[in-house]
Amino acid sequence: MNERHAGAPGQVKEVTSLANPLVKDIKALALKKFRDQQNAFMAEGLKLVIDALDLGWQIRTLVFAKAGRGNAAVEKVAARTVAAGGTVLEVSEKVLVAITRRDNPQMVVGVFSQKFLALKDIRADNGDVWVALDRVRDPGNLGTVIRTVDAVGAKGVILVGDTTDPFSVETVRATMGSIFAIPVAKATTEAFLAWRGGFSGLVAGTHLKGAVDYRSVDFSRGPVLLMMGNEQQGLPESLAASCDRLLRIPQAGRADSLNLAVATGIMLFEIRRGALKLEPIS
Ligand code: SAM
Repeated sequence: MNERHAGAPGQVKEVTSLANPLVKDIKALALKKFRDQQNAFMAEGLKLVIDALDLGWQIRTLVFAKAGRGNAAVEKVAARTVAAGGTVLEVSEKVLVAITRRDNPQMVVGVFSQKFLALKDIRADNGDVWVALDRVRDPGNLGTVIRTVDAVGAKGVILVGDTTDPFSVETVRATMGSIFAIPVAKATTEAFLAWRGGFSGLVAGTHLKGAVDYRSVDFSRGPVLLMMGNEQQGLPESLAASCDRLLRIPQAGRADSLNLAVATGIMLFEIRRGALKLEPIS
């Protein structure tokens, strides 16, 4: 390994070898086992990394392509990484391709510490909307839901039961950066039901057997907890029974149900209808 010193000595390393142990550790983050072991995850793209730093996420390693040398924005992020105690790697195209498993990788990749919100720390005030996802399986669905929660100004996501990893590369990609803006909590079904007992607002479940049209409900009073079911099985009886209302989105045509992320989007825009205003484009 060659080392190039810039800023604090030893903190910017030039790496061209795939056998470099730092590179191996980052590549391993593609697997949940190693993400859990390292309590870390990877996010691609300069804008995402800047947003993450602005939002106070702890950066461990910044990886950037040689082409980024001399780019003012990249150098600034590198300086912020060093100031935060992180390591900066300037790598060859080959290394970046291997880390991201993409032919045309972004110029910058950040490795961050994972962060979950504890259920007990969720405070739901009037107007707040939280989304509980029962055993969500698909990383694209989870990422899209997190992005939509962000877009409508809802407060956060609770993952219930055995779910896909919010910090997988696919999920983080699908969030388009919202993973850094939206708190995510996770809980077993039992812990979630115990917490739900103390939730003071409306608990609105969505169900294909729901008797209530989602457009007929007044969501404007108090906080709302929106509960969405698993992609294959929908909400299990224990979770459905804990809802104040079971709502259905009317459908026409031959499809049995809507995609989970689409159904969540429809519900969230309805719940937040009164809060969302079209701002003039500046
Ligand atoms: N076969 C599953 C079932 O029986 O529920 C389909 C699950 S659907 C793909 C995933 C989730 O999206 C559902 O559990 C529900 O939360 C929501 N969903 C999808 N279509 C819906 C609709 N028309 N009305 C209410 N919720 C819906």
